[in-house]
Amino acid sequence: MSQIDETHAPDLKSWVEDANGHPDFPIQNLPLGIFSPPGEGPRAGVAVGDHILDLKAIGDSLPAAIRPALVDEHLNSLLGLPAATRRALRRRVSTLLSDEGARAAVAPALYKVAHCTLHLPARIGDYTDFYVGIHHATNVGTLFRPDNPLLPNYKYVPIGYHGRASSIRPSAVPVVRPRGQAKGPADSEPRFGPSQRLDYELELGIWIGEGNVLGDAIPIGAATDHIAGFCLLNDWSARDFQAWEYVPLGPFLAKNFHSTISPWVVTAEALAPFHIAQPPRTEGDPAPLPYLWDAQDQASGAYALDLRVYISTERMREAGRPPFRLSEGTAANMYWTAAQIVTHHASNGCNLNPGDLLGTGTISGPDRSALGSLLEITRGGAEPVDLPSGERRTFLEDGDEIILEARAHRDGFASIGFGECRARILPVRG
Ligand code: CA
Repeated sequence: MSQIDETHAPDLKSWVEDANGHPDFPIQNLPLGIFSPPGEGPRAGVAVGDHILDLKAIGDSLPAAIRPALVDEHLNSLLGLPAATRRALRRRVSTLLSDEGARAAVAPALYKVAHCTLHLPARIGDYTDFYVGIHHATNVGTLFRPDNPLLPNYKYVPIGYHGRASSIRPSAVPVVRPRGQAKGPADSEPRFGPSQRLDYELELGIWIGEGNVLGDAIPIGAATDHIAGFCLLNDWSARDFQAWEYVPLGPFLAKNFHSTISPWVVTAEALAPFHIAQPPRTEGDPAPLPYLWDAQDQASGAYALDLRVYISTERMREAGRPPFRLSEGTAANMYWTAAQIVTHHASNGCNLNPGDLLGTGTISGPDRSALGSLLEITRGGAEPVDLPSGERRTFLEDGDEIILEARAHRDGFASIGFGECRARILPVRG
């Protein structure tokens, strides 16, 4: 479990002035990413305010254990370093960006983020999506199986499936409307064509740090040592294809056409102040099996994160209207903790590798204002959402943009955010 230290001090200021009071990237955050400065190749960087610090350019000022990882065009080696080494990097970068004496040497390695290209932070070898949002699981289960919403394994097993790593893209890359096979309740035969029920899913992504050897498990007490950080994840979903194809092997083409993530890895170290207790299970629910139970994980394995989803349609943008908020909830609505997800994934000896990405599953709250997908908000398309532009939505239309937001809060600490996770829907191709 990461510790609170001087890098989290709420009064710590940077000489990068736009970092002070920045809603996402004050000096207390320092997320890691891969970016290209204008006209140059990809490299590791740290976001600070509206700027990016080029780690390669200041490599000589960083701990020696970090330097070999900085030759790569991805963060896999860096994420795979022991948590203590990542923490040493964080402390050093924090000092360099707060100490006025370091300014002359470090300032030439800063770029305005608006002038840079952001990339995926890692080569994602494997991507697994879980289903730990219990309100989402119950809501979707009610729509797909009215008599039997939550299957009996749900409260014992962190349910997941292997997704597709190669179709994950960073924020801002547009999503092409997928084609697929669907069969509505009134159809006698399935049809093949553009999805008519295209949806988003609000999720968190967990970046794996140090991996485990094939055959070895990750004990629950050690699971947080294997988590390098977090991002936002939009698991775009074609509900019409999903309903027809998901039995008996689970999601496939309804989910693998594109997933969007926020490009910055908000490190486990940055989130140290924002741990909260895992909410107690409803009375009568089974206790987790012993391999998933850890007292410290139950006491502090959840995160105080506010989550929001916004929509912006073409007409809203033309009229100069701001994005409209579709939902507002918290990350506390997860039935399993990040540590339980990691431990369960490796419990059979499955090897996790640095830069693997695990999705939590859609995070919905118990209230109507906190639902993490249009499927839930519109009750399967039966109750459209009215937008301030006079438009209505059941599912997404071409030109719609979805924006996910996450911010960590705790009294006495500087709030930090995850940065942008947005993408727009393009018409079907061909
Ligand atoms: Ca999902």
